[in-house]
Amino acid sequence: MKHIKFKDWTLIVDVEATQQLYAKWTEGSAERCGCDNCKNFIANRSNAYPNDIQALFASIGIDYRKELDVNYISKNSCHQHFYDGSFYFVGSFIGKDCRIQLDKESYTRELQAINDNFKMGFCSTKLDLFDSVQNTVEIFFITVLPWKIDKCLDIN
Ligand SMILES: [Zn+2]
Repeated sequence: MKHIKFKDWTLIVDVEATQQLYAKWTEGSAERCGCDNCKNFIANRSNAYPNDIQALFASIGIDYRKELDVNYISKNSCHQHFYDGSFYFVGSFIGKDCRIQLDKESYTRELQAINDNFKMGFCSTKLDLFDSVQNTVEIFFITVLPWKIDKCLDIN
């Protein structure tokens, strides 16, 4: 297990298992969906994550082109488009869990701002995506992107 210090967290990562996981997946959630909002995400993908986050993903073994989930949220009056999404890695972490349970059924997420356009947090989870039962960590993010593809496709 590799220990990675990041901000106030310590990530304990099985890099090899994480890399194997991403190697199995052929594409990201945005490609699987294929709607115009997702096409815009793909057009922005290399800028969707700050440089230090891309470096963090690389050290964890995450292929940033293969997000497990991405959702369009909304746009603001400055034509900035908000998306959220998530990645997973095999391992665990020490530090704040971003998932705050409100009551039995609902929860919220408290994310840390990395810059003006990007927020993220970590939460412990178990997924049945994995062949064997392993502890996994969800990396949840919100990113703010311009509309890069044909303006006519922006129906938001
Ligand atoms: Zn979509």
